[in-house]
Amino acid sequence: MRKRCPFLILSILIALACLPLAAAAGEFLYQYSTINALLAGLYDGQLTMKDLKSKGSLGLGTFNHLDGEMVVLDGQVYQVKADGKVAVAADPVKTPFAVVTFFTPKQFILVKKAGSIKELGELLDAALATRNLFYAVKIEGRFQKVTARSVPRQTRPYPPLVKAAEHEAVFPFDNVVGTIVGLRCPGYVQGINVPGYHFHFLTRDRKAGGHVLNCAMENVTVQVDPSHRLELVLPEDREFYWLDLDRATTQELEKVEK
Ligand code: ZN
Repeated sequence: MRKRCPFLILSILIALACLPLAAAAGEFLYQYSTINALLAGLYDGQLTMKDLKSKGSLGLGTFNHLDGEMVVLDGQVYQVKADGKVAVAADPVKTPFAVVTFFTPKQFILVKKAGSIKELGELLDAALATRNLFYAVKIEGRFQKVTARSVPRQTRPYPPLVKAAEHEAVFPFDNVVGTIVGLRCPGYVQGINVPGYHFHFLTRDRKAGGHVLNCAMENVTVQVDPSHRLELVLPEDREFYWLDLDRATTQELEKVEK
């Protein structure tokens, strides 16, 4: 009889002990502030990139002063500014709105052809088990088209987002290689986050990207990570306390995000 290697058995035991932690880590979304606060013009938050990165490795958001679009990818935070340039956001930089998760894909959806962002959403919806959970999404590959945008840094007094977004810069990409990261939120999150799909894009060379207005793709695999938990952290800030966050904002959101 062969002797069993005690190190091998020990390694297996350690691996088993680590499993529940690894699984749990991917099962929540961490969100700072609410979409209605951003729509109302609350563009300064207290959450640093250092703290944000401790809550997730993939996600999206914006920066204080509404200074560009945030793409969180592979544990790094990228800032796509309105001039089209991309910087890695330093640890002390702060955000007024961001959502991240530790991405561990559980479902892989092959998209043979999606001619628009709307079509992509419909195809994914048809493949998801339910529309009542939160999903983090990652699509790596070549895209026939990505239309991205970024928003310019604002100065006080801050205008509402619908006004600030009128000055957005639009970046059209054709036949581009990169990564789309995003979220699908249930319709019932109205006011807290963006119902439906919300995508941000980063090119493979990490030199361009933005909030995705439209996209087209063929034969890409969409990685999906469902979440049963949402950790919502609200700003400890008098400006946040005094905002009117109860108004219906469906139309404004449609104009700003789509
Ligand atoms: Zn966005």
